[in-house]
Amino acid sequence: MTSVVVVGGGLAGIAAAVRLADRGARVTLLEARAHLGGATYSLDRPAVAGRSGLVADTGQHVFLRCYHAYRALLERLDVAALAPVQDHLAIPVLRPGEHADRPDWIYRTRRGPAPLHLARSLVAYKPLTPLERLRAGTATLALRRVDPDDPRRDTATFGEWLRERRQSGRAIERLWGVIAVAALNLPPDEASLALAAKVFRTAFLGRPEAADLGVPTVSLRQLHAQPAGRLLESLGVDVRTNAKVLAIEPVSDVGTDPATERFVVRTRTGELSADAVVVAVPHQAAARLVPARAVPDEGRERWARLGSAPIVNVHLRYDRRVTAFPYAGALDSPVQWIFDRTRAAGVDRGQYLVVSVSAAHAEVAMPTEELRRTYANAVDDLLPGARSAQVVESFVTREPHATFRQVPGTAALRPPTHTGLPGLTLAGAWTATGWPDTMEGAVRSGLRAADALSLTRTPTSRPLGEALP
Ligand SMILES: Cc1cc2nc3c(=O)[nH]c(=O)nc-3n(C[C@H](O)[C@H](O)[C@H](O)COP(=O)(O)OP(=O)(O)OC[C@H]3O[C@@H](n4cnc5c(N)ncnc54)[C@H](O)[C@@H]3O)c2cc1C
Repeated sequence: MTSVVVVGGGLAGIAAAVRLADRGARVTLLEARAHLGGATYSLDRPAVAGRSGLVADTGQHVFLRCYHAYRALLERLDVAALAPVQDHLAIPVLRPGEHADRPDWIYRTRRGPAPLHLARSLVAYKPLTPLERLRAGTATLALRRVDPDDPRRDTATFGEWLRERRQSGRAIERLWGVIAVAALNLPPDEASLALAAKVFRTAFLGRPEAADLGVPTVSLRQLHAQPAGRLLESLGVDVRTNAKVLAIEPVSDVGTDPATERFVVRTRTGELSADAVVVAVPHQAAARLVPARAVPDEGRERWARLGSAPIVNVHLRYDRRVTAFPYAGALDSPVQWIFDRTRAAGVDRGQYLVVSVSAAHAEVAMPTEELRRTYANAVDDLLPGARSAQVVESFVTREPHATFRQVPGTAALRPPTHTGLPGLTLAGAWTATGWPDTMEGAVRSGLRAADALSLTRTPTSRPLGEALP
């Protein structure tokens, strides 16, 4: 039986390990942290002032109906029901002041082909003038001609392209930016046109239901880490946490033929020998671990240029219910998105809201007290119900390296699955998936890295994410 070590227990590593076990490999998964789930994880907050503790996600995660590989993984983990997808896209967009009680909506009609399914929403979208709405419609149509896989599209920013299509600064901020900042973790004026086109074309210009939003009703720990641990165990995968890999060394048994290569994987506590390795760690760690015979120095140096972009979440627990919206976007406010995580976190009294701030380059360095004050005040401006409520607990989670910096030029820096050694493949949302740095990209990359290894045993009958569209 082929033995494979998967390094990294994020979604990419989990998907790779499941697939390899299905294919009949003997799999060991080594994860540096104490838990699986990688960037999608949760922390426990203790009880305070007579109130129960809560389980907070370090960063709010949402997905779209078009995340086929990710949703197939949720099915396989038997948790799809815990992350329902809305039956049709409908997102309230809040504004402060006089608009606070009357959100605008980004929604699709239940019938009609794309992009007509968005027409009614756009026509009624009051944050833009009628002329801006008309121009937004023509830019939407023009996006259909932007091929995300064309390298020339990765030389400009999305903002440049939008301005050339006569989109005003307001339209960029109040319409395109609402989606682009959340999806690409950068404002349109910095984000790659190619990646933006991937998002908008896949979500809004393909199948009408593609952009329906999925939001977990449980913590990420319950959605990913715990069920993945159970599934991997049932498949016979040897999962080792607190097992940081320090080095991966190719060992040639016969001459220097790369096809006969085996690998020694070193951790602090010992070493493992394997026929093959999937490296499913973030790009910074991969650059240190992947041996030069697999990817030469200049290749690994390119990965460093992918950089990183931060996401900050401000967690606000109120003594009472302050909004009926399960989630909402926001305009003219430091708040970008708000999520009601009361039930998911196990909060039994009051309401627990999470404010998610992408492209948080300034916020990631702001003192916690300033963030708490700024965002609690901003929520008061957006949600009239919050003004008379008391914040009984607040805290901040910062992810300085949440995603790579999805600027123009990154397509050329993202490596393919294969390396110079047939027995060593690369996975991770940062590799060349064609997708932005997302859970969907992570799962796809893991499946590909597993499939790219040649194993000696016949596959079992339970496929995961076969024949992805
Ligand atoms: C705050 C935040 C919000 C986000 N929101 C969304 C969202 O709404 N929707 C969406 O689709 N995506 C979102 N993302 C992005 C998404 O989380 C990532 O794209 C995805 O989880 C990456 O998975 P991965 O397996 O590629 O990498 P990771 O999750 O980073 O996993 C890599 C794993 O490798 C481990 N590792 C590193 N070095 C070693 C070593 N030497 N030895 C062993 N193990 C090692 C790490 O500990 C980690 O567990 C968000 C990310 C963040 C941080």
